[in-house]
Amino acid sequence: MNVTRQDFDTYCFPCYKPLPMVLTHGKGALLYDDSGRAFLDFTAGIAVNALGHNHRGVTEIIRRQSRRLIHCSNIFVNDRTLTLAKKLCQRTGYERVFFANSGAEVNEGALKLARRVAYDQGKTDKYGIISFYHGFHGRTLFSVNVGGQEKYATGFGPHVEGITHLPFNDVKAFEAAISDKTCAVMLELVQGEGGILPIDPEFLKTVVRLAHKHEALIIVDEVQTGVGRTGTLYAYEQFENFRPDILTSAKGLGAGLPLGAILTSTAIAAHFTPGTHGTTFGGNPLACAVGAYVLDKVGDPKFLTKVKNKGALLKEGLEEIGTELNCFKEVRGMGLLRGAELKGVLQGKAALVQAEAAKRGLLILTAGADVVRIAPPLIIRKKEITAALKILKKTLSALLEKEQAQVTASQD
Ligand SMILES: *Cc1c(COP(=O)(O)O)cnc(C)c1O
Repeated sequence: MNVTRQDFDTYCFPCYKPLPMVLTHGKGALLYDDSGRAFLDFTAGIAVNALGHNHRGVTEIIRRQSRRLIHCSNIFVNDRTLTLAKKLCQRTGYERVFFANSGAEVNEGALKLARRVAYDQGKTDKYGIISFYHGFHGRTLFSVNVGGQEKYATGFGPHVEGITHLPFNDVKAFEAAISDKTCAVMLELVQGEGGILPIDPEFLKTVVRLAHKHEALIIVDEVQTGVGRTGTLYAYEQFENFRPDILTSAKGLGAGLPLGAILTSTAIAAHFTPGTHGTTFGGNPLACAVGAYVLDKVGDPKFLTKVKNKGALLKEGLEEIGTELNCFKEVRGMGLLRGAELKGVLQGKAALVQAEAAKRGLLILTAGADVVRIAPPLIIRKKEITAALKILKKTLSALLEKEQAQVTASQD
C-alpha cells in the first residue's frame, strides 16, 4: 500500500509530531526513507537500538527463535527466558529478575514492589515515594505521576497519592523530605528526558545514607542509561560502593524488541508472591533470546571500553563545536549519552536544530526545548561520529547566522 507522512495526521493519534520523512529500513547506524535517502542515526530509537539496525546477529536470533517459540505466557517457563534471567543475575550480581515489555512497565512494577514491601511489614503509612523534578519514568498513571514534569501527569483524574517531588541534587531539600513514611526513592543517574542532567555523586551519597536510615528502598531507573549506554553495563557501577536496591532496565536490553527487567534481591523479590503482579507478554522467549545475545555482546568489557572511548570522542567534538560557535551553555552526559544545552539566539530551539540537522542527513534527539540529545547505536564507528559532528556544526552555524540576522533585522 502506498503511504505518506500525511497519513500519520489522518490516521494516527496526534500525540507525536514525527519528522517529515517516512522510514523504511536501516543498516548499522544508517536509516533510509521511502525515497532511498540515507540518514546518520544518532537517535538509536531513543537509546534502544544498541547494536544498530539490521544487525546480523540479532536478525539471525530472531529468525531462529521465531521458528522455535515466540510466546508461551508465564504459565510456563521456557529455555530462553531462563537463560536471560540467569545471565542477567550472574553478570550484575542481582539475585532476582522480573521481565516486562517496556520502561514504564518495569518502573510501574518497581514502584508497586516498594510499596508492597512496606505493606507486608505492616507499615500501612509507609507508602511515600520521593522522586525528582525533570525525572522521567514512563507514561503509565503511576510512573507518570512519579516523573517530575507536572504537565505530563495533569488531566488524568486525581494524582497518585504519596509522591513528593524534589529538586534534583539538592541535599537540603532531600534531608527535609525523607522520613520513616518514605518507602522508596526513585531516580535516574543521568536524567535523560529531563535534559541529560547527571546526578552529583555527593548528593547520591546523602540519598543512600538517609534512605538506609529510614528504611526506604532506592530504585534506580536505568531504562535509558543501562545496557552499556554510559560505558559500563549499568551506570551505577561508576559510583563508588553503590548498588541500587531495585534496578530497572529496558530500552537497549532488547536491541529493538520490547523487553524490560526489574532486578533486585531475593528478599525484596519475595514480596511479589503468586497473584500480586504479572504480565502476559513480559519475558517472552523471542525478546529474551535477543536480550541474552545483547547482554553477551554489550556486556563484553572490550565492547564497553570502546563505548567509553567513542563517548569521549563525542564529548570532545561537542565541546569543540561549543567553543568555536559559542552556542552551548554546557555539554553533559556519560558515554554515548550526551546532551548539549543551547544558549544565546538558539536557546529554546532544540527542535529546530533537530529538524535542520535531519534536512542535512543527521538524526538527533532533543531533551526539552534547550537540549540537543545525542544517543547513537553503541556500535557506532569513530568516523561516523566525526561525520555527524561535522553535519551538526554546519547545521548550528547556518542556524546561528539566520537567527542572528533576524535579531539584527528586528533591531533596525
Ligand atoms: C524511556 C524511559 C522510560 C519509559 O520507557 P518506555 O519503554 O517508553 O515505557 C522510563 N524511564 C526512563 C529513564 C526513560 O528514559
